[in-house]
Amino acid sequence: MLKKKGIEPGAGKASYDGRDSFMKAALEAVTAQFTLEAASFYEYDEKSGLLRLRLRHASGVSFEHEENLRPAPGSAAARALETLEAASSKGLGGSFLYSPFRFDYCDPSGGRGVVPCFGLVRLERSPRKRGFTKAEGARADAYLRSYLRDYYKAEFFSLNRKYEKNVSAITELTEVFATALRVRDSFKHILSGIQTYFGFDRVRLYLIDEKNRKLKGELSADIRGQIKSIAYEEIPLEAGAHRFADIVLGRSSGAFMERYKDCVLYMPLAVQGVTIGLLIVDNLLSQQRIEPQELAMLKSFGGQIALAVDNSRLFDKVEELSLYDELTKLPLRRYFNQRFQEEFYRAERFKQPLAMIWADIDFFKEVNDTYGHQIGDKVLKEAGRVILSNLRKIDFPCRYGGDEIIILLPQATGLEAQRLAQRLSSELAELRIPVPFSSAKELRVTMSIGVSTFPQDASTMDALLEKADDALYWVKSHGRGKIALYSDVAEEKKKAEAAGGTTNATAK
Ligand code: GH3
Ligand code: MG
Repeated sequence: MLKKKGIEPGAGKASYDGRDSFMKAALEAVTAQFTLEAASFYEYDEKSGLLRLRLRHASGVSFEHEENLRPAPGSAAARALETLEAASSKGLGGSFLYSPFRFDYCDPSGGRGVVPCFGLVRLERSPRKRGFTKAEGARADAYLRSYLRDYYKAEFFSLNRKYEKNVSAITELTEVFATALRVRDSFKHILSGIQTYFGFDRVRLYLIDEKNRKLKGELSADIRGQIKSIAYEEIPLEAGAHRFADIVLGRSSGAFMERYKDCVLYMPLAVQGVTIGLLIVDNLLSQQRIEPQELAMLKSFGGQIALAVDNSRLFDKVEELSLYDELTKLPLRRYFNQRFQEEFYRAERFKQPLAMIWADIDFFKEVNDTYGHQIGDKVLKEAGRVILSNLRKIDFPCRYGGDEIIILLPQATGLEAQRLAQRLSSELAELRIPVPFSSAKELRVTMSIGVSTFPQDASTMDALLEKADDALYWVKSHGRGKIALYSDVAEEKKKAEAAGGTTNATAK
């Protein structure tokens, strides 16, 4: 019906991104449509019985204005509020049409959720012009209602989008935080989870190092999916030292969550009331405001994020304590056994080679006896460093015990293992370990190394260990400081046996 009369509900309207823009658009349109001097939107406060002016549109501009109106009993305004139908009046001040409406809007700050709103729009014409007819009243009502429908539709779609986004974020983030406890690189997991689901330009994590009284940078995840270490960032944990320090120390105003230019959000992470770090999210690149809803949601995740971060930190620590050797930083035998099983299974299952290096420092007891245990420790530490800096990601070293080190080399042949062993051997041989209070001044060490491979030398785990040990034993008994492949050793043994056999035969 409205369309027939040439009125386009919603025509020329900007997008409704909230109640205020809806009100503004509705007042502008109704003023033009009904040739008015002005239109005002009043919210009705039932408690005080007052109509409070929220927005007024006159002479082409919309503005907020403080004005309270108490509708006199029986007045057009009071009738409109009571009957929820348009009512008009005409007097010396001009003609007025009161069109009531009721709607629920979403609090843009997200804090109050859906808020019911009841009020009326007052349409005004100057006394020189004609008054409002009953038909105009009905049209104005219908017109405003059509606006309301559009507002709801727009709000519904935007809410729906937000809702869907939130539901998927909640499900997936909860999963991320729960699994972060088990997964290696859990910080990476947590940060990229937050970055992806909220769409922030960047997310950074800083953790408190209580012992050294520092706030240390951990990781940064950005919109391109890059995860970078920010370990070079170290901030003294003292009031006044840095803005971040002040925030985690609670010295900054609004310390729980401080916003900077609306594009950055600082969120201290706390577990059981103890602050453990700081999460900083920003949209500095895109200069997009961090929306109140995002803030509210991130806040609701704050506890979980903190817990996940703290858990994985503890988990890593415990894991490190029990699985790694403090001195060499190499995994311990317990960890190795588990990994050996996995790698052996994989090699068998996918028919890939698996090489094993068994290394032992030469005359290590003598090092201890001559220079003391501390120098012995230093040798072990250096050996660990040399090994860790030469391995591929998939290789797995282990301090098997004392001065013995085993390295598993998945997908490597005997020759490849030999090449690596040579590199390790020569790097270790090049080391000069200073020995104070000794005429020698510095110490050099060598390693003996045995290599065995699956499936060439052995078909079981035990056999692979045994053959590597055999090869090592052969080196130890043939001058030390060298590398032997089990296949070569077996060949040598065969030859020796054959020679021995011949000798024996001859002797006979
Ligand atoms: P070989 O060339 O035959 O290997 O002779 P070796 O003297 O190295 O003999 P062996 O490998 O049997 O000696 C291992 C020594 O390592 C015995 C032990 O006192 C010493 N050791 C084991 N663990 C540690 C440690 O954590 N620190 C130090 N300083 N010494 C250790
Ligand atoms: Mg030794």
